[in-house]
Amino acid sequence: MASTRSGSEADRRTRVACRDVPVPPTSHLSIEQLKGVACIACGGQLSESRVHRGVALDHDGGLLLDYDVYSCPAPGDTA
Ligand SMILES: [Zn+2]
Repeated sequence: MASTRSGSEADRRTRVACRDVPVPPTSHLSIEQLKGVACIACGGQLSESRVHRGVALDHDGGLLLDYDVYSCPAPGDTA
């Protein structure tokens, strides 16, 4: 019973929710992820209930680009 110290929260969910995954470096994100149409955690297509995760910065030549990036909403949080 005491073999894990992750607690009951982790026991109920076998995987980490996308919205709890840290935003990867911009170089690791696909165009779809940078455009906000794909989840930055799982790469799945996002719905209107996507969660804004921050801004990813990228350089295109001498130009600094910034992208709003998103992840899937929390499981059950479809409102
Ligand atoms: Zn996701």
